[in-house]
Amino acid sequence: MADDWDERFGWAWDLISEDPARRDEAHLRLDGLRAARAAAATPEEHREASRRLLPDGLWIGSRPGLARLPRAVRYRLLYLDWEVRFPHEWAWHAKSWSTKKSLLRTFCRHVDELPEWIRTVLAGLVLVAAARPHRLGDERYARLARVLVDDAMRERLRELGEHPDKGVRLRAGYLTWVVGNRILPEPKPCQWRDYLRELGLVEEPVERSPAILSEVDQGRVPTLVRCPRCDGPAVVACPVPGPGRVLWRVDCSECAYTASRRPEFKQGNRRDGSVVHDPVFRLPLWLQQPCDGGRRLWAYGTGHLDAIEQHLRARVRLAGGGAYLPAYQVDLPDWMMPLDRRDELLAGIAALRATVPAGLGAWPHRDADT
Ligand SMILES: [Zn+2]
Repeated sequence: MADDWDERFGWAWDLISEDPARRDEAHLRLDGLRAARAAAATPEEHREASRRLLPDGLWIGSRPGLARLPRAVRYRLLYLDWEVRFPHEWAWHAKSWSTKKSLLRTFCRHVDELPEWIRTVLAGLVLVAAARPHRLGDERYARLARVLVDDAMRERLRELGEHPDKGVRLRAGYLTWVVGNRILPEPKPCQWRDYLRELGLVEEPVERSPAILSEVDQGRVPTLVRCPRCDGPAVVACPVPGPGRVLWRVDCSECAYTASRRPEFKQGNRRDGSVVHDPVFRLPLWLQQPCDGGRRLWAYGTGHLDAIEQHLRARVRLAGGGAYLPAYQVDLPDWMMPLDRRDELLAGIAALRATVPAGLGAWPHRDADT
């Protein structure tokens, strides 16, 4: 088979661009390729469309991970690089844990045959993975670390062991431990969890933690509302969350207005385009604006707005019409789903964000040590 890797995947380098607009273009391209495959009329068309998709096309035409196919290897490394650098976008657009694990397993198994440049790239990936939250399949990076370790990697791990983020320090500590103890068994997910347990910690996988709406619901993060006295921006929160009827407060940032309440229950909002209120004090949300067709774009606070934006930017529409990421995670209504509404919605989000005074209603900074 002809070596057409660059023709098929040359565009994919934009997936790891630092420029969000270029990444966005690449996401849309991938989306289009997926739609093209869905529209394939014959098995040949389907096969040809699959060759151009990620990760599907990575497997076609050669065995995985063999160093004598440098072009194929470059794009397999790109797929891994994408996962470590932009894990959410990877997960939303072309997630395949089995591909990640399989590629890493193959590199690990053939490590002695790999040319120096591939070993260098892989060592770099081990270190970037250590510097971001732990994800499924990362035990394969620990295995790679053991076969690739040299003085430079030890030194870099030692530096990461002094990183201000506790999560980075923990992962660097774990890797230092597994590369330094040759008698340990091969790294497995349970070994990482055991390592944390020894330190009195439990793993919180990043995929399960974007629970912004439940954080809002429990008052752990502020909701921005309109002050009933001066119409300025006010913050609703529950300073000491807990079970039962806890005390909620609203404080205006511009006048001295303040109120508190122990709600019996929280009231929801209608989805008919009418004004949206916070569920405790029933004050109008600060972040809301009407959209075309009698709809309303709204968010509880800036973190919720960020989550909606992230979702809209990363989402792909699947052939069946469903969204790749469940919209309930950010409470997106169906009318926001069509791709052709996206630019209008992103502009609305930017306009809403611009109305929030600096520093108001920001997600509380979570110190990893607390
Ligand atoms: Zn006020």
